[in-house]
Amino acid sequence: MRQKLIAGNWKMNGLKADSQELVAGILSGLRATPVSADILICPPFTLTASVAVAVQGSPICVGVQDVSDAPKSSGAYTGEISAEMAADIGATYAIVGHSERRAMYGESNTVVRAKAENVLKAGLTAIVCVGETLEERESGQALAVVGEQVMHSCPTQTDGTNLVVAYEPVWAIGTGKVPTTADVAEMHASIRARLNDLLGHEAAERVRILYGGSVKPANAAELLSVSDVDGALIGGASLKAADFLAIAETQK
Ligand code: PEP
Repeated sequence: MRQKLIAGNWKMNGLKADSQELVAGILSGLRATPVSADILICPPFTLTASVAVAVQGSPICVGVQDVSDAPKSSGAYTGEISAEMAADIGATYAIVGHSERRAMYGESNTVVRAKAENVLKAGLTAIVCVGETLEERESGQALAVVGEQVMHSCPTQTDGTNLVVAYEPVWAIGTGKVPTTADVAEMHASIRARLNDLLGHEAAERVRILYGGSVKPANAAELLSVSDVDGALIGGASLKAADFLAIAETQK
C-alpha cells in the first residue's frame, strides 16, 4: 500500500516574511485536522533552511525544486547547488526535470537522470517530473513521449522507495485545464508499466506516481481517487494555506 504524498512546489515565489506566514498557516491547519498523507513543501533554495527549521518536529517534509547534475557534490560549479548541500540544510526530497526546467533551461532526459542519480546518492528522494505538451497529446503521442521520459530520466539504482514520478501534462500546468480521470488513469498505468520494465515489478510497485497540473480543492478528491494516483504535485494552490490544506484534507 503506497502512502499518498501531497507536495507543494512554490516555484520562484516567497520572501522570508510571507513564507513564514504560509508555513505557520499550513502547520496550524494540520494540527487542527491531521491528514493521513505525507506532506511536502518545496520552497525556493533561499527559503529551504528556514522552512526546514519552521517545520521541525511536525509531519511536514521539505524539498528543493532542483539540484545540480555536476558529477561532484562540491567544486568549481558557479551558481550550482548539489543534492548533498540540499540534504545538509534539511531537505529530504528534490524535484528534478520539471517541465519548466526542461522547456526554459533545455534540460534533456540525460541531464534529468544525472540530477536524479545525484539526489539518490545524497540520500534524498527524487521526484522526477514527466509530461507531454498539448501538441503531443493532440497528435496521439502522449503515452509514447511520457514513456520515453520515464525510461530515460529515472534512475535505476533504486528499490523504488526513494523514487517518485510526477506526471504533469504541460498543458495543464497553471492553466486550470485538467485531463479526464480516464486519461489520468491510462497514463499512470502506462507509467507504472514502464517502471516495471526499468526497475522490475517489486521496485515499480513501490514508486509513488503523483498527478500534477491545476490541482485545486475542487478537483483534488476526484483526481486523488484515480487508480495509480499516489498523490499530487501542486503549484499555484500550494501558495495559499487554505487551498493546500483543503487538498491535503481530502486524505484524512
Ligand atoms: C507545477 O508546476 O508543478 C504545477 C502542478 O502547477 P499548477 O498546480 O499551478 O498547475
